[in-house]
Amino acid sequence: MTNVLPSPARRPLRVLAVGAHPDDIEIGCGASLAAHVAAGDEVWMFVLTRGEQRSNGQRVHEQQAAADILGAKLLWGPFTDGTIPSDVTALHYVDQIVSEIGPDVMYTHAGNDSHQDHRATAQLTLACARKMARILQWKAPSSLGFTPTVFVDVSDTLQVKIDAIAAHTSQLDARVDPEVLTADAVVWGHQARVRYAEGFETPRFLWNVR
Ligand SMILES: [Zn+2]
Repeated sequence: MTNVLPSPARRPLRVLAVGAHPDDIEIGCGASLAAHVAAGDEVWMFVLTRGEQRSNGQRVHEQQAAADILGAKLLWGPFTDGTIPSDVTALHYVDQIVSEIGPDVMYTHAGNDSHQDHRATAQLTLACARKMARILQWKAPSSLGFTPTVFVDVSDTLQVKIDAIAAHTSQLDARVDPEVLTADAVVWGHQARVRYAEGFETPRFLWNVR
């Protein structure tokens, strides 16, 4: 006799993460995306610029290598690094990608961020997610205050995130220290009562009890 209920099989989710630059998504939710892939979900990474301000083109290849490590599909946006617009043309572009994928859950930047591209990406994504029930917003190194209230258990996939970030070899000087990312995962894991977690802010997150 046990009081632990068996986990019911759930249908695979369609998961879309939208980031401004190469490596933003990995830093923000890489371990969660790896957990989705491990659970059989389909994951897309939509990177709005090619990070050309800090690259002579190699960031495109590094981003593909990182997506391969996570097991995600990669899509690129057409925008210029440093000047992502939040006008109606940009909105229609992102909206079309979101409609084509039809995600069940979306991840993106938190809006309270000192980088203009991160703020614009959050704004565009939230507008495109207006009919969606599940949106999670991550912390970036440039975030200006961040209070997560939803946590994803990444006890089994934190290392995949670290490995994916390491694929961005041209960013060695500016890359986030894995120790910092692990420290966040420990603190958020403590808050969420698991070993490691990624924490997110959310405007809404529907929980289906089934
Ligand atoms: Zn960025």
